[in-house]
Amino acid sequence: MTSNGNAKQVKVLVLGSGPAGYAAALYAARAELQPVVLTGMQLGGQAALTYTIENYPGFPEGVGGAQLGELFQKQAEYFGAVTEFASASAVDLSQRPFKVESDNGDYLADSLIVGTGASPNHLGISGEVELTGRGVSYCATCDGWFFKDKKVVVVGGGDSALEEGLFITRYASSVTIIHRREEFRASPILQHRAKEHPKVNFILNTIVTEVIGTDKLESLKLKNVQTGVETLFETDGLFIFIGHTPNTQMFQGQLEMTDLGYISVNDRMETNIAGVFAAGEAADPHFRQVVTSAGMGAAAAIQATRFLEASTAPVGESK
Ligand SMILES: Cc1cc2nc3c(=O)[nH]c(=O)nc-3n(C[C@H](O)[C@H](O)[C@H](O)COP(=O)(O)OP(=O)(O)OC[C@H]3O[C@@H](n4cnc5c(N)ncnc54)[C@H](O)[C@@H]3O)c2cc1C
Repeated sequence: MTSNGNAKQVKVLVLGSGPAGYAAALYAARAELQPVVLTGMQLGGQAALTYTIENYPGFPEGVGGAQLGELFQKQAEYFGAVTEFASASAVDLSQRPFKVESDNGDYLADSLIVGTGASPNHLGISGEVELTGRGVSYCATCDGWFFKDKKVVVVGGGDSALEEGLFITRYASSVTIIHRREEFRASPILQHRAKEHPKVNFILNTIVTEVIGTDKLESLKLKNVQTGVETLFETDGLFIFIGHTPNTQMFQGQLEMTDLGYISVNDRMETNIAGVFAAGEAADPHFRQVVTSAGMGAAAAIQATRFLEASTAPVGESK
């Protein structure tokens, strides 16, 4: 990393410190490109939010989410990657080097790897924002402990909802999973575990329409989508796992994306702008796993290395 006026000049700038970001950083570091990783607000990414990851190869008994994030970081840094605790706030991709503004100053990057991942979706109902942190949560590993011997509701029907719901059973007296459909999207093994668990109950074909409480969550208003009948459900906690939205708003108008905001990449992780690559959940609406995100990150860095090798423009000049 060198300095150009106030801006730091880098060969490879990686946005995001999740599996995609640090896998990219590892490969770029081993190609001796001294990548710089801007961590964003969530060091380790979403993976670091989950208690245990059982499906990342190489860990037969599973690995803690936060622990895996630390290992990714350590390995990339061992080979020369630099971690900077900053979030990108704006990008100018109209010419190389690409300009990235952050709360840690500006960067000029000869190539850019976007691994900004995704953030949890909100229900968008009355009381949800007001009671977030006062009973409403999007992270079981972060907040599960606060619900020791308490009643908890989990909303969602995918892997995250069931996995995190099962995790909360170690603290809560009961976990009620509320799902708007009859069928779950979650994998059969998780469905089986949840159905067998003595603390887990299900309310199906039902949505939460209001979060009620003054200083803390007291109850939820529920609506059965088949009968239209509304009921009140007393609970101490509400954990919401209803999918994610890619963190790509910053690239609107510059990078091509799908209607849902996923950055469009080809099978080499190339975006519509030469020298800009995207990997992981920022570009992947399909798989959304640690292993696939890390794989995309590695692929992006391999391609960035080839791009820089083929590029005739010296670092710091527009191509
Ligand atoms: C509760 C939960 C449980 C999960 N369990 C599993 C599991 O068991 N197995 C599995 O394979 N997958 C699991 N996943 C999915 C897995 O965590 C993700 O697929 C993976 O983390 C995606 O990696 P990523 O690097 O693409 O993005 P993310 O992990 O979302 O990381 C994005 C990174 O970008 C950073 N960032 C965002 N905006 C900016 C910005 N403006 N500037 C700089 N940085 C920015 C963030 O701080 C973060 O570091 C789980 C997810 C959740 C939420």
